[in-house]
Amino acid sequence: MFDILDDRFRTCVLTNAPLVKLGEGFAWLEGPVWFADHECLLVSDLPNDRIMRWTESSGLSVFRQPSGFANGHTRDRQGRLIGCSHRNRWIERTEIDGRVTVLADRYQGKRLNAPNDVVCKSDGTIWFSDPHYGINTDYEGGKQRAELPSALYRFNPDDGSLRVVADDFVGPNGLAFSPDERLLYVAESGPQFAPDPVRHIRVFDILDGGERLSLGSVFHSVSPGFADGFRVDVDGNVWTGAGDGVHCIAPDGTKLGRIAVPFTVSNLTFGGRNRSRLFICASHTLFAIYTNQRGAERP
Ligand code: MG
Repeated sequence: MFDILDDRFRTCVLTNAPLVKLGEGFAWLEGPVWFADHECLLVSDLPNDRIMRWTESSGLSVFRQPSGFANGHTRDRQGRLIGCSHRNRWIERTEIDGRVTVLADRYQGKRLNAPNDVVCKSDGTIWFSDPHYGINTDYEGGKQRAELPSALYRFNPDDGSLRVVADDFVGPNGLAFSPDERLLYVAESGPQFAPDPVRHIRVFDILDGGERLSLGSVFHSVSPGFADGFRVDVDGNVWTGAGDGVHCIAPDGTKLGRIAVPFTVSNLTFGGRNRSRLFICASHTLFAIYTNQRGAERP
């Protein structure tokens, strides 16, 4: 079940830990986020237009339906749920009282495409990708016309400003900061139906305290499959979904190893006590496995 390609991977995994199936029968899972304070996982069942909730004691239940074809999730510095909606073409925040606030739905008067994945920086700013995938098909939110090119955005909830931080993408997808927030990793995949699509993770230097990004370079090319969503551990390793499981990539770009998963992995997150349990969205099935690493404090 484990491919150890580099000795550094031996200390990251527990080779006696089983890959446990937590649930199946979904359409396509995405956007997992861990709530340590509630000991629960929220995860999008995207084409079924719902968000599921999982706990160790009571298993899976529907958290929200319809979800606006929710995709990526994270939490802000106050612990509130931040989500991407394909159908509504916006970024939203679920308040402590349960109301949903739309944070960003337009840029320079034009509608966003289909926000895909989102992370929060320690300064409270919210960074998200806005490719076209989610409005290309009825399956993932409904065919709609794109008004903007694919781009990566930074939203500042203090003043409501939205700015493009990078726009030279075929299709930006998952994203995560390095633990010291000096780097931003962004998966790029597409064009969706091309015979030889882009399938790499790029890395950008964060400049001027987050006001600018460097031009970015290819950090790692994922094969087989795509890098969709990923997370970073406390040592800066990148754990990404791929066509044959979870790949672990060192900060120097070396692939350290793989956890084999029987279905394509779209997305994952660290959670559980100690943030050492990896929750894995594998097509229609949700898996978990204990690791010997801990997810970075800010997912
Ligand atoms: Mg994604």
